[in-house]
Amino acid sequence: MTNSLGLYIHIPFCERKCNYCDFYSAFYNKDTLSVYLSALKGEIKKWGGKTHRPIDTIYIGGGTPSLLGKKIVDLVECIKANFCVLENAEITVEANPSSSNDFLSWAKQAGANRLSIGVQSGSDDTLKILGRNHTANDAVATIKKARQLGFNNISVDLMIALPNSNLQTLKNDIDFMLTLDAEHISAYILKIEQNTAFYKKYDTLNLPDDDATAEQYLYMCKLLAENGYNHYEISNFAKGENSSRHNLKYWIGEDYLGIGPAAHSCLDGKRFYYPRDLQGFIKTAQVIDDGESGGKSEQLMLGLRLAQGVDLSQIYGEIPEDIKKKTNLLEKAGYIKANLPHISLTDSGMLISNSIITELLENENI
Ligand code: SF4
Repeated sequence: MTNSLGLYIHIPFCERKCNYCDFYSAFYNKDTLSVYLSALKGEIKKWGGKTHRPIDTIYIGGGTPSLLGKKIVDLVECIKANFCVLENAEITVEANPSSSNDFLSWAKQAGANRLSIGVQSGSDDTLKILGRNHTANDAVATIKKARQLGFNNISVDLMIALPNSNLQTLKNDIDFMLTLDAEHISAYILKIEQNTAFYKKYDTLNLPDDDATAEQYLYMCKLLAENGYNHYEISNFAKGENSSRHNLKYWIGEDYLGIGPAAHSCLDGKRFYYPRDLQGFIKTAQVIDDGESGGKSEQLMLGLRLAQGVDLSQIYGEIPEDIKKKTNLLEKAGYIKANLPHISLTDSGMLISNSIITELLENENI
């Protein structure tokens, strides 16, 4: 494991709530954002004084970081003043296609070298159903502006298994994503979470069933592979060397520090998080202990998210017989590629990764 650390900063504000979203965010208010930034900088300073490990990735996510406007420059300066940020650090900022051109310039000025843009779909009708406040053309214009500013590492989000979707609508969305020519695509299957607008009108959504969803996922994997995207993690695809260095830390089991309400951390063998409570964070930011990190089940769970898979002997030493048997069965069923002690998931396996991992871990005393 490297000595360097990833830093996640949460900007928990949105102008409106998208119909599917259960990320932690409050409604945007200029004054509350200012007060929040003071509290956030206080925490950055506190952590900077506690850990002297170099920072090699920064990820500013949300919520909607573009609501920071010019203050993003200030925020990154504060991080650099309090942590040792490596010269070649990956600095990602999330942006919406509705973000202003000015915000992209400020993000660049702040030192961002990677953008993650929530495009989601190339259909304006679908974007409306999702409750997004932008059009497909906005995405095209945002990426054009980002390229003009010199961003050469752009990720776009794509959602699949959407209301009224089928293989043809998915193909249209992927064709649209391909015209954007991003270095990286994060592709998520829509999940209807409680406390979202979609949850309340679930029956009216006309969602694909499980089989149709599986078909969409596998079709997407095929189309993206045919177009030069390497499927390196269940939901992530990259051209060339453009995998997300920050997100890889989560799956490889490297340390990261998350600051802001709902932000999670894994540091020096411990997991902890800030509660989903903006006012609590502003008043007295405190983290909640979430146990130890690095257990065998955790290593298996996280490692199998990656296409490179895991070396079971590194996790277990002697591989338990039960796991060997199950691996064999799962390989025959087409869900696992096994060359013991190494195993990895196939695309079909990635689709049901949770069930496979549960199956492998069942009856294990780990
Ligand atoms: S999807 Fe993003 S922009 Fe939409 S409500 Fe959630 S955090 Fe805000």
